[in-house]
Amino acid sequence: MAAPMKMIRTSVRHGLLQRLWNKASVLGTARCLHLQEYQSKKLMQENGISVQKFVVASNFEEAEHATDHLDVKEYVIKAQILAGGRGKGVFSNGFQGGVHLTKDKKQVPFIVENMLGSKLKTKQTVGDGVLVQKVMVAEALDIGREAYFAILMDRTYMGPVMIGSRHGGVDIEETADTDPDSIVKEPVDILTGIKDEQALSMAQRLGFEGVHLQEAADQIKGLYNLFIKVDASQVEINPFGETPDGRVVCFDAKVNFDDNAAYRQKEIFAMDDMSETDPREVEATRLNLNYIGLEGSIGCLVNGAGLAMATMDIIKLHGGEPANFLDVGGGVSEQQVYDAFHLLTGDAHVKTILVNVFGGIVDCATVAKGIVEACKIIDLKLPLVVRLEGRNVEAARKIMEESDIDIHVADGFDHAAQLAVQHAKAYIEASAKKTKSDDFL
Ligand code: ADP
Ligand code: MG
Repeated sequence: MAAPMKMIRTSVRHGLLQRLWNKASVLGTARCLHLQEYQSKKLMQENGISVQKFVVASNFEEAEHATDHLDVKEYVIKAQILAGGRGKGVFSNGFQGGVHLTKDKKQVPFIVENMLGSKLKTKQTVGDGVLVQKVMVAEALDIGREAYFAILMDRTYMGPVMIGSRHGGVDIEETADTDPDSIVKEPVDILTGIKDEQALSMAQRLGFEGVHLQEAADQIKGLYNLFIKVDASQVEINPFGETPDGRVVCFDAKVNFDDNAAYRQKEIFAMDDMSETDPREVEATRLNLNYIGLEGSIGCLVNGAGLAMATMDIIKLHGGEPANFLDVGGGVSEQQVYDAFHLLTGDAHVKTILVNVFGGIVDCATVAKGIVEACKIIDLKLPLVVRLEGRNVEAARKIMEESDIDIHVADGFDHAAQLAVQHAKAYIEASAKKTKSDDFL
């Protein structure tokens, strides 16, 4: 049921994996909890994976003290946002690069300060970037070579697949374009788990040799076992690097988790700080509504994910843009209708509300009562278009007619979308005129 939500949400950020892999399979696995790099690395550390020492700072003072606990030769300072491509990113204050290296301890808090409170824009962010609220200060290590390693759950193979390249690092996306043969894939049988020879062969194909080979194979095995243990849907390590002194280190980490496993991965899901989640979605989660915020002007309230997707399509067909995907589920209650109205009217993008409910299990009269009550309590000022069909629809129409609320009752699905687009346009034009005349006064 969450499938359409997955599709919308994943359009936002995915780097190499989405481009490399058959789109449908990535989409199918990608709706999931994302953790910040420092959280993923903590988990990896606890599970015997090799990561560099690090501390996290969320203000200048913390950054000053960060180095007290981290006495190393060189520091790497990394903005913590969920998107990749930070190394080549730019901050809203003009500061260049979300990953910095320095040997000077005194410089650390100043670099951190430049990152905190600004938005970091990278190849993988949307709009004007993501606000940086935490920065990781870590031990920098010499990197002899950067490889790429990832594991993801894939539909085509009906199980986990390892993906790797001997040429990792910040230009991996270009490598995938210019040298696709350097990307290797290796499915793992989820029932038997990863075999020693499989890990070794993967390490070889990633270009590890000599002292690094067994070490890389051990890390690959460790990462696979962690992937299974924590119900990850994706583990991406780029760079998966080797140091000149023979260590294999996961320099960067992006771990995503299968939401369906939330019930048995409570500790991990408790780490979700929601800092990068749309506030409308946070509120919707609290209200137990399936909701994805979008950029358009028509707020939709629909029952059933399929109908919700179709509603968004038909709005677009008539030249409008949905402000959200909202599925109130099969058995809609009056309370849910109220909650949904509350959510929609709290969103400044919404200029018209479109209710599209098919009464199968749900009684249309219940929905109509919910609408009328919600409009009264909220004192709705926005145009409201309602299309109800199915069980007890006559009673529902009567309830809406007899109320003194201005409801545009639609005659079918197509008509409803047309009306919504029309009203949203008119409302936006009227507001623009009003603003102009207010300015004039
Ligand atoms: P992103 O993928 O968001 O650009 P990374 O963590 O991969 O961020 O960092 C970008 C680059 O910075 C890496 O490819 C690597 O060359 C360098 N780097 C990252 N961590 C370290 C480290 N601990 N020591 C030395 N260099 C590092
Ligand atoms: Mg990286």
